[in-house]
Amino acid sequence: MSVQPATASSSPSICSQPLHIRSDPYAGRKYHASTALPANFDLLGDCTPYSYTIWKRFRNEVCAECWRYDRGRRSFLTRRDDEGHGRNQGSAAGGGRATKGATAVGAGLWFCDERCQESWITREGLDAVDLLRRLEGARQKKMNATSSVDTGAELKDMTQEDADRAWDSVRERERRPKEVRKWRDIQLDDYETDMARYVLLALLRCQREQLRLQRNCTRHCNCQPSNLSCWTLENGQTLDGSPAGVRSDSRNGCEQGSDWRTFSSLQTNESSLLRACPEILAHQTRIYQLLRGRFGTNAAANTVSQLPSRSILPPAHSPQGIGLASWAEADEDTKLCRGPDLVDIISIENVRRILGVDPGNSFGIWEVPLMEESECLGFAVYPVASFFNHHCSPNVRKERDGRRLRFLTTRSVREGGELCISYGHVEGMSWTERQKELLEGWYFKCRCSRCTAEEPGTRG
Ligand SMILES: [Zn+2]
Ligand SMILES: [Zn+2]
Repeated sequence: MSVQPATASSSPSICSQPLHIRSDPYAGRKYHASTALPANFDLLGDCTPYSYTIWKRFRNEVCAECWRYDRGRRSFLTRRDDEGHGRNQGSAAGGGRATKGATAVGAGLWFCDERCQESWITREGLDAVDLLRRLEGARQKKMNATSSVDTGAELKDMTQEDADRAWDSVRERERRPKEVRKWRDIQLDDYETDMARYVLLALLRCQREQLRLQRNCTRHCNCQPSNLSCWTLENGQTLDGSPAGVRSDSRNGCEQGSDWRTFSSLQTNESSLLRACPEILAHQTRIYQLLRGRFGTNAAANTVSQLPSRSILPPAHSPQGIGLASWAEADEDTKLCRGPDLVDIISIENVRRILGVDPGNSFGIWEVPLMEESECLGFAVYPVASFFNHHCSPNVRKERDGRRLRFLTTRSVREGGELCISYGHVEGMSWTERQKELLEGWYFKCRCSRCTAEEPGTRG
């Protein structure tokens, strides 16, 4: 088994000393201990999500920043959207039936207080609030009978080729501006809107990273375990007034490994997902079309850039899914004065990748403390945490503190030992229940040492 250096071009910038990443043709990339570790050893420090979504059902009961949830009580949520930032705010009370077109749609963000709001806005950008508000405008007021989309693919036995064909047909239609204009008016159901929020936040972060890269960053430091900041601002500036509990480095939006390069390098599970739930394909193409229609033209995305639009082609097909091909070709002056437009980032490749990363890589946002009847409030993708493989008797446990996850060893681990967490809550289940849960939720048949030992029929 070969040790893949973290500096290989396709590898993310993960350089925490107690861990190294090994590549396995069957199990993908996975963490191993580079030295013997004691129990309760903090492996990664604070991991922060690249993108997330809170399901609509819990939206106005959960703080969008710290994910505090109080069993459905709402009294602790005192701020909404960009309230207090002097923009066109949704009505704070959210009450009052809208006369048609008169009441602004909210962005669907609620916060404990000003500090939580400030942290969210500093990281995701004030524009993100506006864009989410415009996205919420596409949410169906009430569920229609399934507005089906013809993907040209049979629903059963869907293959990768079927999915590719459906997307090619979207790509084909996208060449006609008239068609794309129609996509602005697509209405999304609740699931689609919630997923579109996750996609949009990931795209915006990608865009902001490119911008930051151009404007401020003078060097890319190889982060040390104690130094979570990947990018250093040119003038050494840290953003003042960090709310207590928010690290100044995370306010720069450049948490360790929580970057596009790491995020987009995660294994995509599109084909496993579509095999299990073929109907998802129609949801996915509709999400893309809506994003493209609403935000994917220079005119439509003009809340993000105040500068005149420049002529730039939509991203060319990029097999890596990085989708910044047109950006790479943009002239240097353009790159120096501004980053890529959202237009450049909303590509089929990027949206497919973001949606494909979710299954198998995302962590459920569970109500804490975790109890038998805890609610799953949404999901989040933590790029560096995705390299933990699963074991039914794991040597690593995770702890959630607000939006941050920490990973601690549950027992001592020998040098070279694989570091595994448990996906889902399968440890207390029988072999049969575990296999079913992991296959349905994570698309794999577990062959960990415990499952091998407990498999019926293998012990006489
Ligand atoms: Zn909060
Ligand atoms: Zn197992």
